[in-house]
Amino acid sequence: MKIAVFSTKPYDREFLELANQSFGHELVFLEPRLTSQTASLADGFPAVCVFVNDELDARVLLHLHRNGTKLIALRCAGYNNVDLQVAEQLGFVVTRVPAYSPQAVAEHTLALILALARRLHKAYNRVREGNFALDGLLGVDLAGKTAGVIGTGKIGRLVAKRLMAFECRILAFDIRPDEQLQAEGVEYVGYEELFRKSDIITLHCPLMPATYHLINEESLALMKRGIILVNTSRGALVDSQAVIRALKSGRIGALGLDVYEEEADLFFEDLSNQVIQDDVFMRMLTFPNVIVTGHQAFFTRNAMEAIAKKTLENVTAFERGEEPPGLLHYREAFAS
Ligand code: NAD
Repeated sequence: MKIAVFSTKPYDREFLELANQSFGHELVFLEPRLTSQTASLADGFPAVCVFVNDELDARVLLHLHRNGTKLIALRCAGYNNVDLQVAEQLGFVVTRVPAYSPQAVAEHTLALILALARRLHKAYNRVREGNFALDGLLGVDLAGKTAGVIGTGKIGRLVAKRLMAFECRILAFDIRPDEQLQAEGVEYVGYEELFRKSDIITLHCPLMPATYHLINEESLALMKRGIILVNTSRGALVDSQAVIRALKSGRIGALGLDVYEEEADLFFEDLSNQVIQDDVFMRMLTFPNVIVTGHQAFFTRNAMEAIAKKTLENVTAFERGEEPPGLLHYREAFAS
């Protein structure tokens, strides 16, 4: 099948071309992000393959529909960038890769927590300059701390297990508690208790209207002073302006972000020679207790291989008239 692959980076091409040796689709690699300005690049393609910051809003979906596209193959797990209501009305088949390597994201989350707890980002630069002083590098033990995990699905449950191995007490919130985790010692509590009692809070729930700006002025006010907050899920779970105020007041002791609500204009691009116009983002980077990575939690060799293979499996199943393994069921998506 002929597939227009949007937001292509050299690594996407490498892994998709390799996986495609077993599938034989016609992949056309396009560098631009899918937006209403670039949608015409997909004219005549029965399938588009898209990533996290491609915009599949009503306007783009209508354009794709009118020009022959039937399949939207997301090469990611999250689908908050697709207007599902419109996609359903227009009869699109939407597929995704629900699980490729939850370990990759869980391990990156732990990397952020550990780096923040031991100030590795400061130590790295300091030692390279011949400064071996320890002032300002005082860390905290994870052992004995209470960690709040919001969303205990495929990624959150692995983060909870890993934090338990570090001897943390785990409080969790999920609209569907996991009985097995509960049996292993995870304590499910309400949002408020989790916010009040946690020393570390890590976000692993999907972005949807109910979770938009879950971390805001009010929830931050409930948290312990000096909280370590980590978000590797989706940027808009966090109100960035409120977080900046909490960093200034010391309410947030350390912040680790792999995602940012306005990341679409920044992440995945080399902007090192440009003046970045996003003042909120740039303010965030000035804090000594903040680590930002540019949506790289998924980015491991294992994960990229699995993403490429599963994305193309979805396309092949669609082409054969079978149900793709990663088919997004609209009813379930609306219900979650
Ligand atoms: P999942 O669907 O397996 O788990 C999500 C969990 O959140 C489920 O258990 C669900 O019941 C729960 N949930 C739903 N609504 C909730 C609410 N209001 N409050 C609390 N919990 C709620 O998803 P996953 O594979 O674990 O992925 C989690 C998120 O991680 C995804 O939504 C995606 O946006 C993000 N992600 C980020 C990266 C990255 O590279 N940074 C990579 C993959 C996924």
